[in-house]
Amino acid sequence: MHDDIEKILYTEAEIIAGINRVAGEITTAFLGKKFTVVSVLKGSCVFASDLIRRIPIPLELAFVSASSYGDGTLSGQLDLNFFPTDQEVRGRRLLLVDDILDTGRTMHSLVSAFRERGALEVLSCVFLDKPSRRAVDYQADFRCFEVENLFVVGYGLDFAGEYRNLPYVGALHPAVYDNPERTKGSPEPSPQT
Ligand code: 5GP
Ligand code: MG
Repeated sequence: MHDDIEKILYTEAEIIAGINRVAGEITTAFLGKKFTVVSVLKGSCVFASDLIRRIPIPLELAFVSASSYGDGTLSGQLDLNFFPTDQEVRGRRLLLVDDILDTGRTMHSLVSAFRERGALEVLSCVFLDKPSRRAVDYQADFRCFEVENLFVVGYGLDFAGEYRNLPYVGALHPAVYDNPERTKGSPEPSPQT
């Protein structure tokens, strides 16, 4: 698995330092306010679990999955699953947590969906931000790291379902995603990424 990584972008120690910084910002923003962290499955589960343990104020945890079908970079069509109940959304302050902000379509659609369902406030936090790829005008309220336009894996982020368990973030060797045995095309987001 490690042999498939061309270069390490963020080590485990750097990741923890970044999460500590963002957890502090989130704690300040939500001090004295009840809120729910909504982790976008599957990619953000590793980040969200480390993040919430560094936020020392009351919070609840929920999950949602956003699957993009076909060419996720063009269609912007998202299928939402495991959506929290109305009781968990209505009148609540939410912090949506995702692994990476790429075109921005996933977060933009999710924020709208939660607002339509009656959330009082919807803020967002992303582990990684790839601003060079943005297709919709959207910025996260909190982010750990910026990355250049590379396909990255590890720390929850996958390629063809694998590499989520790498403890660091790395750029995948092009030989891996150019291998027809491993993929039918380019490393586009797959359902429930
Ligand atoms: P967006 O809707 O912002 O274009 O897409 C965000 C989703 O695309 C992320 O949650 C992630 O699942 C996937 N994605 C975008 N860029 C990458 C990347 O470099 N690596 C991986 N593994 N997934 C990515
Ligand atoms: Mg995702």
